[in-house]
Amino acid sequence: MRLDTDRRHIWHPYASAVTPPPVIPADRTSGNCVYTEDGRPLVDGISSWWCASFGHRPEPVVRAIHKQAERMPHVMFAGITHGPAAALADRLKKLLPEEMEHFFYADSGSIAVECALKMAIQYQRSCGRPRRTKTAALRGGYHGDTVGAMSVSDPGGMHAVFGGLLPEQYFADRPKCPFGGAWKDEDFSSMAQLLETRQEEIASVIVEPVFQAANAMWFYHPEYLRKLRAACDRYDIVLIFDEIATGFGRTGKPFALNHAGVAPDIMCIGKALTAGCISLGCTAAKQKIASGAGVFLHGPTFMANPLACAAASAALDLFCSFDWCGQVSAIEKQLKRELESFRNHPLVRDVRVLGAAGVLETEKIPPPETVRRIVLKTGVWLRPFARFVYTMPPFTVTPEELTRITNAMGELLSAAGKA
Ligand code: PLP
Repeated sequence: MRLDTDRRHIWHPYASAVTPPPVIPADRTSGNCVYTEDGRPLVDGISSWWCASFGHRPEPVVRAIHKQAERMPHVMFAGITHGPAAALADRLKKLLPEEMEHFFYADSGSIAVECALKMAIQYQRSCGRPRRTKTAALRGGYHGDTVGAMSVSDPGGMHAVFGGLLPEQYFADRPKCPFGGAWKDEDFSSMAQLLETRQEEIASVIVEPVFQAANAMWFYHPEYLRKLRAACDRYDIVLIFDEIATGFGRTGKPFALNHAGVAPDIMCIGKALTAGCISLGCTAAKQKIASGAGVFLHGPTFMANPLACAAASAALDLFCSFDWCGQVSAIEKQLKRELESFRNHPLVRDVRVLGAAGVLETEKIPPPETVRRIVLKTGVWLRPFARFVYTMPPFTVTPEELTRITNAMGELLSAAGKA
């Protein structure tokens, strides 16, 4: 691959086009590894942004994509339907909370979030409340990089630069009671007050249940979600759970909402939905929301792409046949054991583990060039950001690979100390 072409012309995520950070040329993927162009295996410690839950290139999913490509890689979805979309809906109906009746296939996680926000507004209009156009969200949250999704992500985060572009939304304090810790009712008071005072303007509330991932890497108490469900019922505010990062086993339950035992009105899924093979999001809605929303005003060109739907069905079959629960629980135990040893490191503020996610919250992280050097030296792919050195490995990771990952996290920590 011509790295000079890459450097000169290709714009990478969260990067400058003219002074790009270092990149590693990948040639192929297999099992839990990404192989570099010069043939070095890198254990993927973050499942390629948390989507390759069953390792890379899972055979049944790749086969399903091949088979579908030979028959019908794409067809528009307005006025036409197809088998892969229906087969996927059958599976989602069985896997998602039973209240979820209707599935809108979006082309990515961010778009699934946009659709959720729009559905909620259409629902409120149909109930005779056209003034309810705002969304309430949590500080420290992340819901994607499109305009609506940015507007409900942490207002102090990287999206602050787009302030003028974004619709103004309402934010409640981030839940402070940790997952597994004691619950205190005052943790819900900021949200309770917001919903009470702004109920005439708020169409929906969106949260990442239990695990605020991309912005805060924070695991919070599930009681928060039960309180939130009750408050939304009180004011008929639409409750949206963004399970794009947490769905399909990541936190040790099928969905993070299972820790709380409550269902939302709308649920967004994506990422691991296709086992990391192709982009697909989905916005699932309760009957009440779908009937209220009426004609939904959204329709992307690649909606319900048959390749993506076929991949998702195969991925969900894999999810149902694989002992992910046993694997995630073993990963959790090992992460707790191995990451705990870093707690007294002078740069470490906190060590957190839930399911197949382990986080070292630090004072600082090493610069990109140092990260690249450590990745190549350790043979472990990790991408620290903000104050976090973290792992979200594939559920298929072996104990030896996981130890290599936690050792590499330690090396990153030491390098941050020297930087
Ligand atoms: N919502 C959550 C909770 C996410 O973690 C992400 C991505 O990290 C998104 C939405 C956006 O998904 P996508 O990157 O597929 O647009």
